[in-house]
Amino acid sequence: MEPFDIHTVWPQCVAAIGRAMPNNNDYHSCIAPLQARVSDKNIVLYAPNQYIFDRIRTTYLPLLETTIRQNSPQDLGLRISLQVGVPPNETQKPTSSPASANDAANPSGRPPKLHAPFTFENFITGRSNEFAFAAAKQAALNPGTSYNPFVIFGSTGLGKTHLMQATAHAVHQANPDAKILYLHAEKFLSEMIKSLQRGTMEQFKTMLADADVLMLDDIQFFANKERSQEELFHRFNEKLELNKQVILTSDRYPKELNGFEERLKSRFTWGLSVGIDPPELETRVAILIQKAQQAQLDLPQDVAFFIADKIQTNVRELEGILKRLTAHAKFTGGEIDLAFTKSALKDLLTIHTRQVSIDHIQTMVARYYKLKVQDLVGKRRLKAVARPRQLAMYIAKSMTTRSLPEIGRAFGGRDHTTVLYACQRIAELVESDSDLKLDSENLMNMINN
Ligand code: ADP
Ligand code: MG
Repeated sequence: MEPFDIHTVWPQCVAAIGRAMPNNNDYHSCIAPLQARVSDKNIVLYAPNQYIFDRIRTTYLPLLETTIRQNSPQDLGLRISLQVGVPPNETQKPTSSPASANDAANPSGRPPKLHAPFTFENFITGRSNEFAFAAAKQAALNPGTSYNPFVIFGSTGLGKTHLMQATAHAVHQANPDAKILYLHAEKFLSEMIKSLQRGTMEQFKTMLADADVLMLDDIQFFANKERSQEELFHRFNEKLELNKQVILTSDRYPKELNGFEERLKSRFTWGLSVGIDPPELETRVAILIQKAQQAQLDLPQDVAFFIADKIQTNVRELEGILKRLTAHAKFTGGEIDLAFTKSALKDLLTIHTRQVSIDHIQTMVARYYKLKVQDLVGKRRLKAVARPRQLAMYIAKSMTTRSLPEIGRAFGGRDHTTVLYACQRIAELVESDSDLKLDSENLMNMINN
């Protein structure tokens, strides 16, 4: 078989999979982060972590195989396999590959091995992230004393790792002797398991204890890992007592994490937790233009607006689109203008335009219960209004990638704890109340179609 550039078929495959998938959330969490490489007749799919690997293997592999075969130039004898990790020969974003994340044990005070472009200078700010940005800068100025721990939370691809590592770069610049330890949670887990097996736990503990600044990325991966949580708890207390900075990232507000000991969760929120929301249109455009410049790609502004308008929730996906566009332009020799972009990204963009919006959810829920959208976002507490409102929030949390604070804002400026309460309440109720369960299912189906 002729070798072919997976970049040219992969978007089509991913788009086809997106169309075939009933559960859009799974698409975002499991399929979109996959990468693929082709050599000869082998297609290797790379899952960035074990969780995604397991989920793909148990649920989506047949669907993936079929779509890849249908979308590949020649499907005869293709061998498709799945691995955890990142494709070889690729300078990889550390973020999409926790397994190879740039962890930096820095006992000698050498510069930590962080992702060089993840600096404050390269971070574009807007309403969605400026608070997190300012807080991160503050933490870098006075590590250990401003806020401890400092937690950055938000859904995937919004710049949490970028900001965290930018803080590390800044701390290092100000104080090259500071011992900075950056660990992705999965790396922490695997290192700890290795240490337990080899009987080298003391070294592992020392490594953590030695750090002046301890950064743990994606702490949601510690869910249900009791032994690690225990370890974390003790190291945490040490750090806080010694005023050594702890910085964490999480895919949700720490209090909302499941599978965590309460005492640990409460520690997480002792300092400052700041959320990052999906960037607004102008910020997305600015990010695209910046990334294009860095890649020395001539990206017309109307194209940047077009892409930014379609991809609304994830900066990593914005970057992904840019890469694919570049690959496609090279492959076909076409110039990147609006028409070219539209056709190149047609398939890929259809899934994004199908993304469910909170507005749509509110409209559908209001219609279903014969209320007005105004009622759902308004203040009235009558049960006839309050329950549908809670259900709408619950559906918004389930069917979109919006964070709790964002959903709260969309529902008349409510606090994220109100949204959290609504989600928990409805999740409980659907277990016991079959009418509500049916309403919820009906609504989700209607909203999806
Ligand atoms: P997360 O850790 O939240 O999943 P990352 O920090 O890995 O997200 O960000 C994903 C990609 O998007 C990175 O390449 C990062 O540089 C980029 N990115 C995210 N937000 C911004 C921003 N505000 N300005 C510039 N680049 C950004
Ligand atoms: Mg990250």
